[in-house]
Amino acid sequence: MIRKALITGGAGFIGSHLAKRLLSENYEVTVLDNLFTGTKSNIYDLLDNRRFTFILHDVTQPFWGQFDEIYNLACPASPIHYQRNPVETIKTSFIGMMNVLELALKTKAKVLHTSTSEIYGDPLEHPQRESYWGNVNTIGTRSCYDEGKRAAETLARDYHCEYGVDVRMVRIFNTYGPNMHPQDGRVISNFIMQTLRGEPITIYGDGSQTRSFQYVDDLVEAIRRYMEVDGKALADFCAAHRLLTPVINTGNPEEYTIRELAERVIAALPEKDGRIVYRPLPQDDPRRRKPDIALATELLGWKPVVPLSVGLSKTIEYFRTFGKN
Ligand code: NAD
Ligand code: UDP
Repeated sequence: MIRKALITGGAGFIGSHLAKRLLSENYEVTVLDNLFTGTKSNIYDLLDNRRFTFILHDVTQPFWGQFDEIYNLACPASPIHYQRNPVETIKTSFIGMMNVLELALKTKAKVLHTSTSEIYGDPLEHPQRESYWGNVNTIGTRSCYDEGKRAAETLARDYHCEYGVDVRMVRIFNTYGPNMHPQDGRVISNFIMQTLRGEPITIYGDGSQTRSFQYVDDLVEAIRRYMEVDGKALADFCAAHRLLTPVINTGNPEEYTIRELAERVIAALPEKDGRIVYRPLPQDDPRRRKPDIALATELLGWKPVVPLSVGLSKTIEYFRTFGKN
């Protein structure tokens, strides 16, 4: 029997890769998106597929449909975009989650929610394990996203414990790859686009802050394996790890300073005159970030396999082609 999946935010960077992957597994896929940061061009080649449907809709408004699986991705993810309309961001995160959970409750769909490493804030523990509660500012410029995502996790936990909704959460660490918007504002797209245009790379602060970069294919693999885990096996896993709700980190544990990343991008584009300029560090910019992925590895038999050099080359090729269109 053909399985039906709903992807909220499916016209965005990660959602478009997930839609393609689900179609390749013979799913019927519905993408629901208000195109706030996503684009039709990300799903253009899917529109002719008879198993694919696009619905222009805002997740803060209720929606209806019978699906086996719901992947909840709707939410701007780049700081410049989520800070553009902070009230909408926190509403999208929390009310969008509520609408997804209500639909799942009524239709018995399984939910996979995309949370974020931002729920750890500027972490005082390193690397970050799922058991860490975080160090987060409630009233800063990143709070609309961080606290929205934290409240969404709480709501998912409560629908799971009180009503028995099957909800699984991934805390995604910095992910990159083709289909990122060139004006997305995140560090990898910015550095590549700046270098391709012959502009200097803008490092915020002194570049000593760290991040860990996961290629999108690795993330999609983890998401698909997680959704496939049998409910009983997942409950046993959670009991063994004292998790009230299934939540796992997904990310690549290789850690780089932002300065090292800039040097990598410059080295990958030797024909360009790569230069660096320094700009002020934004408020509440986390100093360090690196996932502990032991739980994901144990539960899913999963580890990221795409090295930064390979992922960067593929992303550079995508942005080169994008620039020509
Ligand atoms: P993205 O901005 O490319 O995609 C988000 C999608 O959600 C876009 O298509 C956007 O139009 C849509 N959207 C936003 N608000 C909406 C609303 N109110 N109603 C309907 N659609 C709406 O970002 P992404 O990188 O693909 O992120 C996808 C998910 O993964 C997000 O929930 C994000 O928080 C999470 N995540 C991403 C990363 C990362 O590094 N890319 C890291 C952590 C978490
Ligand atoms: N950053 C930077 N220059 C840029 C964009 C980002 O130095 O043009 C830095 C940013 O300050 C942060 C890191 O790169 O320390 C990652 O930023 P991004 O916006 O990609 O994600 P997040 O801060 O949410 O991890």
